[in-house]
Amino acid sequence: MPSHPRYREDLTRTEILALLGAGPLNRSEIAARLGLGAATVTEHTRRLVALGYVRELAPQVSGPGRPRVPLEVVADAAYTLGLRVHPTHVVGVLVRLDGSEVERFELPFDPANDPVSQLADACAHAFAENTDAAAPVSRIRGVGVALPGVIDPSTGTVRLSPRLGWTDMPLGPLLAARLPVPVLIDNDTRASTTAELLFGAGRSHDDFLVLAIGDGVGMGIVLGRRVHRGPDGVAGEFGHVPVDPAGPPCMCGRRGCVEAYVADYALAARARELGLTEETLTVDGLRDAAGDPGMAKLLAETGAILGRAVAGVVNVLAVRALTVIGESHVLWPHLEPGFTEAVAAGVVAFPDLDVRVRPWDDSAHARGAASLVLAASIAS
Ligand SMILES: [Zn+2]
Repeated sequence: MPSHPRYREDLTRTEILALLGAGPLNRSEIAARLGLGAATVTEHTRRLVALGYVRELAPQVSGPGRPRVPLEVVADAAYTLGLRVHPTHVVGVLVRLDGSEVERFELPFDPANDPVSQLADACAHAFAENTDAAAPVSRIRGVGVALPGVIDPSTGTVRLSPRLGWTDMPLGPLLAARLPVPVLIDNDTRASTTAELLFGAGRSHDDFLVLAIGDGVGMGIVLGRRVHRGPDGVAGEFGHVPVDPAGPPCMCGRRGCVEAYVADYALAARARELGLTEETLTVDGLRDAAGDPGMAKLLAETGAILGRAVAGVVNVLAVRALTVIGESHVLWPHLEPGFTEAVAAGVVAFPDLDVRVRPWDDSAHARGAASLVLAASIAS
């Protein structure tokens, strides 16, 4: 097995496993749900059966014609470990083939202090926990790591992560050298977008957006059931869509970007400037203060800024669904009035945008990373 899997965009086999995770389906049902040809499904399912990841159930005869053979995922045939790296902690999830979790853990993390050893130790924790339980270490197929910043999954390099303080760090190869399985790293919003494609909005939409709000603002873009990356994997820098050249300064060095209004630190700074609080509030503090009319107005105006920018993307891509994720999703009830009004006013063709807020925690990024490494390990 190669120490670092060549990055593959094709998630089809992982999509089939995720779909079967909801219950057995025959090949023509899989083809219909995923919009695939019969021959393509036959080829992919043959490979999954050969790997022992999927098994055939007793044929079902219903009327004339050939009996249909339902397929079932063998959830415990393999596992993947997903890690979400945050500036202060690491969240890990060990995931079965159907996407269900075997276990979840959280460990403290310091990105400035030998981070590769800390991440290798975090993996060792999961491997050790599962040596004699239902998830033997031999069945862990790979480790996926989700991080904030500009990440190149094909080389395993963190090109730029201001939040972790890393530049051109070959994390993938360094970590793979310490582990018995392949390692795949990717941007955290894209990892969560992959999880949303497999287990969330992707179950009813082929084209959708994932809006990540928290200490930054990012966007995952799914078009034709594929996560859009763009050259060098930098697509989705929605946080730096310009709103007002005279607006507040942004982390990127420009002024008036979406992030300079919507990020948690920007909202906290604005609340102080407006005299709504003397403290620098956290996301939970902002939510708790939302009963104050001044704070409610600030949050509604911020929702409107976000809604106008999203309307621009919806008009260009003609997507009809949006999933909101990220630490700041707790503010959504207060951002939502301004957001919905701005989207309705700004979207030309599809005013009925299907917006869902995902009950969200750190593990969503980790779960997405586990999905990505599963796709790579099945492909290789
Ligand atoms: Zn910016």
